[in-house]
Amino acid sequence: MSSSSSGTDALALARNRILSSKLYFDVPPSKVPLIYSESYDISFLGIEKLHPFDSSKWGRICGFLVSFDVLDKKCIVEPLEASKDDLLVVHSESYLNSLKESSNVATIIEVPPVALFPNCLVQNKVLFPFRKQVGGTILAVKLAKERGWAINVGGGFHHCSAEKGGGFCAYADISLCIHFAFVRLNISRVMIIDLDAHQGNGHETDFADDSRVYILDMYNPGIYPWDYDARNYINQKVEVKSGTLTEEYLQKLDEALEVAARRFKPELVIYNAGTDILDGDPLGRLKISPDGIALRDEKVFRFAREKNIPIVMLTSGGYMKSSARVIADSIVNLSKKCLIETRGGPKA
Ligand SMILES: [Zn+2]
Repeated sequence: MSSSSSGTDALALARNRILSSKLYFDVPPSKVPLIYSESYDISFLGIEKLHPFDSSKWGRICGFLVSFDVLDKKCIVEPLEASKDDLLVVHSESYLNSLKESSNVATIIEVPPVALFPNCLVQNKVLFPFRKQVGGTILAVKLAKERGWAINVGGGFHHCSAEKGGGFCAYADISLCIHFAFVRLNISRVMIIDLDAHQGNGHETDFADDSRVYILDMYNPGIYPWDYDARNYINQKVEVKSGTLTEEYLQKLDEALEVAARRFKPELVIYNAGTDILDGDPLGRLKISPDGIALRDEKVFRFAREKNIPIVMLTSGGYMKSSARVIADSIVNLSKKCLIETRGGPKA
């Protein structure tokens, strides 16, 4: 009895937090639903160079898009930082408190020297950029509902669940944005299409047995996170072994999307578009070509856009210097194929 009433209280509290959040703000039609802030990019006294991650990937993607003349810098949407109240919609107070220990953050982002820095520095240089990206993912869903699509140039922290971070993911932006959609957008059927090379154990844990969320996860089973519990909560599992080539990958994706379309009718698609499937990526260990990435993204956008389902793309993993260019090229391709429109509407 007491546990069910406290469950109801927790739900009401989360609902109030979502309703009073500032993250959903009005975006004028002159802007394009492409979300980025300069504060996404992490620079930390040069220590970011110790991590295999290109920690300025996000800014470089936008730089390419602007230099290719597909995007006007003024049309980019800058999100707000997710506040503590926003994060508490999914995370517990004790999890957020654990991030006040630099050593815990160091473990999550896999940069051991970060443990030696005072927490205020870790907050400003690492966690603040992540919280901005979380704000971007949440806003992207609102924009996708209005415009049909949105791209958060960051986000996609699919290894983080309510109670546990890991694999460079400190906040569960995917779980958060879906809870916001449930309450603010009256959406009750969400499909997560997770095509990062790694298994998305964070959202899988958070939406275990939640019939409102359908998870299609295509991942390499031979790499991190080896989360066998979370695998039980994947609705549609497509395993791609180390060394898989572009043609086989895309064929498996075609089949998977056909099956997904038959099984579930979503009102929103969250597309986790990690580029660590790229040939040469030391962590993903797959062999997908840059053109293969563009085709992959095109297939997923076509899947959603042809059915008029709002789609949010998150850039997620992708750890090589070449990733930013590959993502920018793919966004250009989406624009060429008229699956997105990167020119702003009439100026207000
Ligand atoms: Zn990954």
